[in-house]
Amino acid sequence: RMNVYNVSTGSQALNEIIGGGIETGSITEAFGEFRCGKTQLSHTLCVTAQLPTEMGGGNGRVAFIDTENTFRPERIMEICARFDLNADDVLDNILVARAYTSEHQCELLDHVAARMAADRFALLIVDSATALFRVDFTGRGELATRQQKLNQFLSSLTKIAEQFNVAVWITNQVMSTPDAMAFAADKKPIGGKRCSAQTTFTNIHMNRELALRKGRGEQRICKIFDSPMFAETEATFAIGEGGVCD
Ligand code: ADP
Ligand code: MG
Repeated sequence: RMNVYNVSTGSQALNEIIGGGIETGSITEAFGEFRCGKTQLSHTLCVTAQLPTEMGGGNGRVAFIDTENTFRPERIMEICARFDLNADDVLDNILVARAYTSEHQCELLDHVAARMAADRFALLIVDSATALFRVDFTGRGELATRQQKLNQFLSSLTKIAEQFNVAVWITNQVMSTPDAMAFAADKKPIGGKRCSAQTTFTNIHMNRELALRKGRGEQRICKIFDSPMFAETEATFAIGEGGVCD
């Protein structure tokens, strides 16, 4: 077995319920509704992954597949200030790849893997893993194909996680439970909004699933979802100027 280690999320409380941070060698999925903090967590991990291991880091570079154009260098710079890191160095160590279609998103993995073979990476982020698949496969008749393509994508991610011992962090936007229930009650046609919003992955690929939701103000709540290894504990964290914190 590889020398697996954890990368800090920036929040001690959140780290604690997931065993110290997000694990290398496997995939962690964060899912939740709009603005629950998926992208902010992604940005924070871009920085913590570069910290020395004794500081909860991964001492390696980061690959960020950006499918919604939400990567913000300025945000990285703010988070660097918190950790006393040189922002230029940290940004130089983040390989940002913008994906425009689900096919393109899959192709980018070859490029990323080639870079990982040449350099020490600690983390691969795909934010969002599902959005482009929802755009490209919208019809009811395309749901099965979409799921199949997504599973192929995840299978490639698993390979990369294991081959290069990197933590893989993917995000997946879903509706809030009340919204999803309202849709279901309405029996609205599936126009790419309802069922599509609740895409889930097959567990074989997913090592950890984190359900995120909004709390009061800048508070966010994370619950471990359906894990064979961890209790269904919750942790409260916050999003501040310096990224995800307690
Ligand atoms: P998601 O990706 O899940 O849709 P985000 O990660 O983009 O959500 O989270 C957006 C939220 O992050 C904002 O609503 C705000 O509460 C918080 N946020 C973003 N930037 C900052 C910042 N600089 N300082 C504090 N909180 C911030
Ligand atoms: Mg986002």
